[in-house]
Amino acid sequence: MKTISILGSTGSIGTQALQVAKAHKIRVAALAAGSNVKLLASQAREFDVQYACIADNSKESELKELLSGTPTKILSGHEGLLQTASLDGVDIMLNAVVGMVGLEPTLKAIEKGTDIALANKETLVTGGKLVTELARKKNVRIYPVDSEHSAIFQCLQGNNIRDLKKIILTASGGPFFGKKKSELENVTVGQALAHPNWSMGNKITIDSATLMNKGLEFIEAMWLFDLKPSQIEIVVHRQSVIHSAVEFNDNAVIAQLGVPDMKIPIQYALLFPQRVSCDTGELSLTQYGTLTFEKPDFDTFDCLRACIEAVTKGGNLPAAVNGANEEAVRLFLGGKIGFLDIGRLVCGCLENTEYKEINTLADVLETDKAARNYVLAQMKG
Ligand code: NDP
Ligand code: MG
Repeated sequence: MKTISILGSTGSIGTQALQVAKAHKIRVAALAAGSNVKLLASQAREFDVQYACIADNSKESELKELLSGTPTKILSGHEGLLQTASLDGVDIMLNAVVGMVGLEPTLKAIEKGTDIALANKETLVTGGKLVTELARKKNVRIYPVDSEHSAIFQCLQGNNIRDLKKIILTASGGPFFGKKKSELENVTVGQALAHPNWSMGNKITIDSATLMNKGLEFIEAMWLFDLKPSQIEIVVHRQSVIHSAVEFNDNAVIAQLGVPDMKIPIQYALLFPQRVSCDTGELSLTQYGTLTFEKPDFDTFDCLRACIEAVTKGGNLPAAVNGANEEAVRLFLGGKIGFLDIGRLVCGCLENTEYKEINTLADVLETDKAARNYVLAQMKG
């Protein structure tokens, strides 16, 4: 039986991971959340965890109260999050927090020698070099949870990654696929949050509407599978049935299909290499009837273009576009900026960031801070 810890247990991925853990009797040793102390406490009680961590320090005493009379130890703040990520006796740490705040805990877990199930793509976008180098050194495995990357990982099983020619990264296209910029100027938060195929946390749902999410996934794929930008083709596939595909040197293409339900990739990451039952619906190809494939529109969805440009140039630039996007999405969700401002700010930040190599965590944090400051300065200006 495997023992796991979950950072971001109260979120969309975190709650689904707990359903998987319950269904397959995976032991949960520790949970961490941002500020949703009530849900965290009820999860901690249900799964009888050793540690519960609330990142928001001001909620620590409330968590203590809610868990009084239980053996669960309470942790809090950034330090608590790092401790939760690197506990003894944990086989896999599922990182399902949102944003680049997930990077440092990932590094801590790898340092400890704990395998990672990675949903938090911002970890690899901002610190891909640090994470993959350390994982290699520590012989730690990174199991992708993101559905496209899980698909690629699944397609590679039984094959030699050296024979991989390229990957086909599928994209749903989000709620605004087919629209031009002029039609998107007055998009509301509610419209942007209405994703056609997936139910997810707010930040990634906005990223899916701008196609920033596909840009982040492009970068994530490069680090996970050691690819060059020229080895990734993005294909818009509205139905989200083909979760991605790989093409080998002989031009054979292998794809992974399934209903759009994150429990499948979460479960594969946590139970690899086992294939056990999953309480999702079954895929009926005849019910879909037709699957469609189109090219992405890089002009309308400039965040996608910015991510590819950033990672092609490399260094700190992916961390810069990510930082600008995190800040811009926060402002958009708060009603402070318009939908198209997100792309403007991400592209503006990329233009205004000077290339630097990333060698340390401090390099990433510095770039991230500068990118956020760039966005905030544009707000004032
Ligand atoms: P949610 O917003 O639903 O959940 C985020 C989780 O992170 C919550 O538990 C939240 O706690 C916690 N959190 C937020 N800020 C902090 C912080 N500073 N410290 C510690 N914990 C924090 O996001 P999702 O579950 O949708 O996404 C999580 C990650 O997985 C993202 O990186 C996303 O891109 C990726 N992903 C998600 C998919 C999905 O289907 N949802 C699919 C593929 C990838 P609280 O509730 O207390 O605020
Ligand atoms: Mg995805």
